[in-house]
Amino acid sequence: MKVLVVGGGGREHALVWKLAQSPQVSRIYAAPGNAGIAKNAECVPIASDDIEALLAFAVNNGIDLTVVGPEVPLIAGIVDRFEQQGLRIFGPAREPALMEGSKAYAKDIMQRYNIPTASYASFTSADAANHYLHTHFANNPTTPIVIKADGEAAGKGVFICPSESEATAAIHTVMVDKAFGASGDSVVIEEFLVGREASLMAFTDGTSLIPMIPVQDHKRAYDGDLGPNTGGMGCYAPVSFLTPALYAQAVDQILRPAVEAIRDTGIPYKGVLYAGVIVTPEGQLKTLEFNCRFGDPETQVVLPLLETDLVDILLGVTDAHLDEVVVTWKTQSAVCVTLASGGYPGPYPKGIPIHGLDQVAHLSDVVVFHAGTSNGPEGEVVTNGGRVITVTGLGEDFSQARARAYAAVKNISFEGMQYRTDIGHQAEPARTE
Ligand code: AMP
Repeated sequence: MKVLVVGGGGREHALVWKLAQSPQVSRIYAAPGNAGIAKNAECVPIASDDIEALLAFAVNNGIDLTVVGPEVPLIAGIVDRFEQQGLRIFGPAREPALMEGSKAYAKDIMQRYNIPTASYASFTSADAANHYLHTHFANNPTTPIVIKADGEAAGKGVFICPSESEATAAIHTVMVDKAFGASGDSVVIEEFLVGREASLMAFTDGTSLIPMIPVQDHKRAYDGDLGPNTGGMGCYAPVSFLTPALYAQAVDQILRPAVEAIRDTGIPYKGVLYAGVIVTPEGQLKTLEFNCRFGDPETQVVLPLLETDLVDILLGVTDAHLDEVVVTWKTQSAVCVTLASGGYPGPYPKGIPIHGLDQVAHLSDVVVFHAGTSNGPEGEVVTNGGRVITVTGLGEDFSQARARAYAAVKNISFEGMQYRTDIGHQAEPARTE
């Protein structure tokens, strides 16, 4: 089977790494890939959002299965386009991808199907939004409020606002200055929730659902969950604060009803449905967001824990027989640490040589996934993005996995390299499940 993986980050390297282990796969292509992916796949220089060029490549090269990593091509309708041409592709069609592509769409589904989430209102006019904010702060002057651009905003469209002036400034940025373009034509204003966050992803063919191991991601740039939000500085799995009871609740009250709700709209959801959830101090579970694809870096801890051949699962989804696929997981823990460019998530340099990758290439229980890397003029591996490398450690428990990840990180260096030293600081030392 010839497989094309769309994307070129750490998530796509993890997908390629896992697919390369399948006896069913004869050849893997990645578009555009990166320097690490190039070790397992043939990289082709097509951008992940150039749908027509990807389609032409898939047709001309007899691709049997295309797997889409990032949300942008999914929200733009890559799946609809490939399926119109009779090509097999893993991911949701354009309309169900609105679970990530439109916050208002996702909130409406949640409200109509009683999926627990923060209370909210949505607005298409800045004046109406500001009026609502004024009333909120008049009644609750010390309670922050959350403002979300409706559309896709590369993870930057969420503002947590402690005061009315910050909230009106956020509305201005999104709806008047149009910092995220048409994604700011409408906003969702949401109740502020406090608690511990986890990511729960599931494979679904639109009817059956197979949840993955829950993950906790660390979005803030600096230790202690301080500093600006990033794409994700590291994560670990499983998450012991998501107890078996809460996990079952997340599957039965969030993921399953969401899949049913989308099926009722007429176009079933096929692919990975990702629920970002929060457990409040009172032990209540609420949905923060849905994403329409594998998480990054969540995938870099989940796939190393997956025992089953990924191709069996992907085909179970695309060919709608997921109920026949038996999925098993290792009982180990996994921790991944993101090595980022100096300055990230702000501006950062590119083209900086990365040292020490050979020292960690053959460690057992450690997998190094490339994110923003490319090959320099001498063939050396250089930085090419904000998040550069993710290092995943596996172990019998969380502590061992973390120790292995950080021991490997010590071998890798590049000028300006930054990473968090406290990934998993909310994790209990041992699993309770
Ligand atoms: P989202 O893209 O909707 O997940 O939002 C990004 C991040 O903003 C989440 O991971 C949370 O840390 C935070 N966030 C989103 N919604 C809320 C909320 N209602 N209350 C508190 N924090 C939130």
